[in-house]
Amino acid sequence: MREYKCWNKRCAHGGKVTDNIAVKVGSKRYHKDCKMDIDNLKKVRELYIEFVDPAVVHMQLNKVINTLIEDKKVDSEFLLFVIEFIIEKDIEVNVPFSLYYKVTDYKIKKAYKDKFSNLCNNNLTIHS
Ligand SMILES: [Zn+2]
Repeated sequence: MREYKCWNKRCAHGGKVTDNIAVKVGSKRYHKDCKMDIDNLKKVRELYIEFVDPAVVHMQLNKVINTLIEDKKVDSEFLLFVIEFIIEKDIEVNVPFSLYYKVTDYKIKKAYKDKFSNLCNNNLTIHS
């Protein structure tokens, strides 16, 4: 089986993906969940810039997102939910650093949990 580099720099599978399971985008290959993470984080950035704060310093936003994902081990799917929640409920976020608190917000975590238990009745562990 041919092995390729997984282009997600945070690849959780050792950075190599075999042909049979790879998702191909252009000439780049990814694990399915690696590609999903990249897409989620791209969306988080876009939504934040479009709806939360168009004047945000991009470097600052990127740094916060990286810290959340890499150091605080926040799931990209959950982070996307947090941003959507903030926008939907019109919650004020003045600086990207506020996201550190939002991801631990009980109300948001509960809403996320409820969303999934309503969808599939699964128990879900949420990183805190
Ligand atoms: Zn990967």
